[in-house]
Amino acid sequence: MSSRIPKGMTGIEYLLELNKENSETYCNPGTALERRLYRAQHPTEIGVLKCMDGRLHAAVMTNTALGILQPWRNLGGRFNLGWIAFQQSIESWVKYAVHRGRHCLILVTYHYARGNTHRGCRGFNYDADEAQRYTHNLKQQFDRVFGTNVVYTLQCGIETDYESLILHGSNGEMVDMADVIDTSTDALVSLLSRLYPNMPQAIVPDVIPLLQGNIQHIAKIRSSNRPDVEAEHREWVLGVGRGFDWLHEINMALIVGPFDPYLADAIATAATLIKGNLDEGRISKDTGVVLLSSAPYRDPAGPERLLAQEKALFLDNFALDVIGQRVPELIPYLRRLVVTIDHNTRAVDVLERHEKDKH
Ligand SMILES: [Zn+2]
Repeated sequence: MSSRIPKGMTGIEYLLELNKENSETYCNPGTALERRLYRAQHPTEIGVLKCMDGRLHAAVMTNTALGILQPWRNLGGRFNLGWIAFQQSIESWVKYAVHRGRHCLILVTYHYARGNTHRGCRGFNYDADEAQRYTHNLKQQFDRVFGTNVVYTLQCGIETDYESLILHGSNGEMVDMADVIDTSTDALVSLLSRLYPNMPQAIVPDVIPLLQGNIQHIAKIRSSNRPDVEAEHREWVLGVGRGFDWLHEINMALIVGPFDPYLADAIATAATLIKGNLDEGRISKDTGVVLLSSAPYRDPAGPERLLAQEKALFLDNFALDVIGQRVPELIPYLRRLVVTIDHNTRAVDVLERHEKDKH
């Protein structure tokens, strides 16, 4: 059951409370200075392309503070640089990094579960080989467009039972971080140089903390003897848009980014998965499901914030239409929250809030 929401609190109240807490942590002077120091010491901009699946939380899995890893989410972790919105988003991210004299690292990820095929990726019909082929081709597309000197792209599996990263070397060798015993910086540097002989030297020291963080995280998961049901889907939030890193909890939200030309299909799949969570009793019918539509902005003055508002409101309407047409059984359980996110503080501004839908 959805034990994480205290009794008497609705899902929306819980989300707003969680945002308040995580935004306060983000803005706390000590934390903010620590993050800036970390960024100064590890300047590589790191992007993670991943599935909408709520079990994939790269920051938690690598013990990385909020605001270091930049996520892009879609069904299956499928992306294509030919998609207009995705192309624009990646291009402006790369420009931003290069103008600041930074390298970019992009992790192209797929996911599976070592214990059971059916805990794998719905976006690839649980076919991990197909997901590997797809992400391999996507990595090649990035290499064709950006080369490997400034923007470095690597293919990476995420195994959700141990929450381990599987590095795919450019020589075809695969290394599961759950099998790595020597966690010293020297050992990890030599692992990286074996797997990725052409990785720019500037990026290497910025990858090491992610690997060390993942190894620590795996040890924690293994020692907790987590029951299998906890490794299954338990999401009760359907996030549409961008700016969700403040959620910072594994297995709470399925997140669909606004990049896919077939956005309706991605939203319908997410709604179907959440419906399954309800039907199989993995989440509570009382708390219900929250459709959370979100758009971030950096500049509080001028049109950027207002454009974000329009985007979030549009996404909410769009997602509600898709769910109404394709997964109408979910509508009676649906609550809706429409927000913008101030990128500087990670605080939400609530635009609309519907505890119970009018349908
Ligand atoms: Zn998936």
